[in-house]
Amino acid sequence: MLGQMMTLPLTISSVLDFAVRFHGKTEVVSKTVEGPIHRYGYADLAARAKQLAQAMGALGIGPGDIVGTLAWNGYRHVELYYGISGIGAVCHTINPRLFAEQISYIVNHAEDRYIFTDITFVPLLEKLADQLTKVQGFVVMTDRAHMPATTLPNVLCYEELLAGRPTTMEWPALDENAAAALCYTSGTTGRPRGVLYSHRSTVLHAMAINFPDAFGLTARDTVLPVVPMFHVNAWGTAYGAPMVGAKLVLPGPHLDGASLVQLMEEEGVTTTAGVPTVWLNLLAHIEETGRKPSRLSKVVIGGSACPPAMMEAFEKLGIQAVHAWGMTELSPLGVINHPTVGTEMLPEEQRKAIALKQGRPLFGIDIKVVDAAGQELPFDGAGFGTLKVRGHWVCDSYFRQERLATHDEPGWFDTGDVATIDANGFMQIVDRSKDVIKSGGEWISSIDLENIAIAHPAVREAAAIARIDPKWGERPIIVVVLKPGATATPQEIRAFYSGKVAKWCEPDEVLVADSLPHTATGKLLKTELRRIYGRG
Ligand code: ADP
Repeated sequence: MLGQMMTLPLTISSVLDFAVRFHGKTEVVSKTVEGPIHRYGYADLAARAKQLAQAMGALGIGPGDIVGTLAWNGYRHVELYYGISGIGAVCHTINPRLFAEQISYIVNHAEDRYIFTDITFVPLLEKLADQLTKVQGFVVMTDRAHMPATTLPNVLCYEELLAGRPTTMEWPALDENAAAALCYTSGTTGRPRGVLYSHRSTVLHAMAINFPDAFGLTARDTVLPVVPMFHVNAWGTAYGAPMVGAKLVLPGPHLDGASLVQLMEEEGVTTTAGVPTVWLNLLAHIEETGRKPSRLSKVVIGGSACPPAMMEAFEKLGIQAVHAWGMTELSPLGVINHPTVGTEMLPEEQRKAIALKQGRPLFGIDIKVVDAAGQELPFDGAGFGTLKVRGHWVCDSYFRQERLATHDEPGWFDTGDVATIDANGFMQIVDRSKDVIKSGGEWISSIDLENIAIAHPAVREAAAIARIDPKWGERPIIVVVLKPGATATPQEIRAFYSGKVAKWCEPDEVLVADSLPHTATGKLLKTELRRIYGRG
């Protein structure tokens, strides 16, 4: 017997329709590429997304067509999120920090019909335009007054494209399983892979990030995603915020500590989210000036492991640091760390150790850790193995790609991460399987070694990598960047490990560098570090 309840499709346009009806005046504030602050309400955003949708039709873009974006976090980018997916086309966010050849590979693989670009990325596209054989035209996301002189072929101006078009229309009825957005992994170890999100997966993921034990956004919150809209949909915030009527603040390209603190203060930001590298800058600025954003109460930290020193720094400022783990393949949120009744009551030391884990799954996600034979390990917080995931917003296969080993076990996705799960369901990442240091048959977590180095008062950033070793196979070494003005010798930093890890896990050598290479998503570029320092 079937239930007798309504089944409305979980479409992205329905999120915007809701925001217009019940939070139409709630603001979306953007620090623009052109400079000034732009502000309007969700109702205005929807009106322009509808103009854009109709402009798409005029350009010959329809259901199933893929449209690329190369843009910062800003209101026009949000309009593209909704305007493109609203007509059944696919919004393909491209990470401008990728290597040029990766960008042209991605654009050609996705067969993007048009590319919408911020002014910033016009020079980048000019260099690539010859190779982008499927792209029919480029739309520069600005008004006529700011249009750059460009050699790009078939260039349109965003504001002119929208001007004069009706601000009303009914969004077409779409299958909730239709494709809505496309994002490629950054492919640090091979070709980038496309993850094709559906309307349903996107809406369910956005609902889940709003859980109180996730980002917990409400109509009283103001959220500023520092994580870019080209990096896994700014972790769902551009969908989650309108869903609950939270104010959305978008920093554009202005991501330095001073700009972020100022914007957070002026707009009353309560919640923010991003990778550890951006928080290093923010914390350094707060330390320097002694001024923190007065309403900021929650910082979601993910993308790579949050070091204990960073969590403590936020705690001292009275800001809750929430650790989270996810992947492009998971839309991205998989687990997030909030205490349970049981863990909240534990002595401080234990409570802190648990807060540093990546967290517990949200409803809609299931996780397990398996050994080399594929057998599931118990939730004991000790046994580590490959982390596998399944759920409503987990990638079932990559876009236009043969089935890969990541999907060998039917119904599960192999994350490539090594992890433990404890009795309370808290998952902890030991390492990426490619980054774990294998010394004499034992595994050493590079994350653990980095966390110790970063706890040293002179160290700003640290990378632990394997160095090839004739006797042990691999041995850990650590490359550090010192804080400005700080001094510490490699010997002092090496001595700092004493008693904090087993003797054989201590790094063989500490090297001091001026800077460390990062990936397009702000993580340490371990392949490059191993190439430079790891050859033994
Ligand atoms: P990319 O590989 O393109 O950089 P993702 O952002 O999808 O893209 O990266 C996902 C990976 O990032 C995870 O598999 C994991 O290795 C790492 N990661 C994400 N969040 C955390 C975290 N909180 N702690 C440790 N590693 C993390």
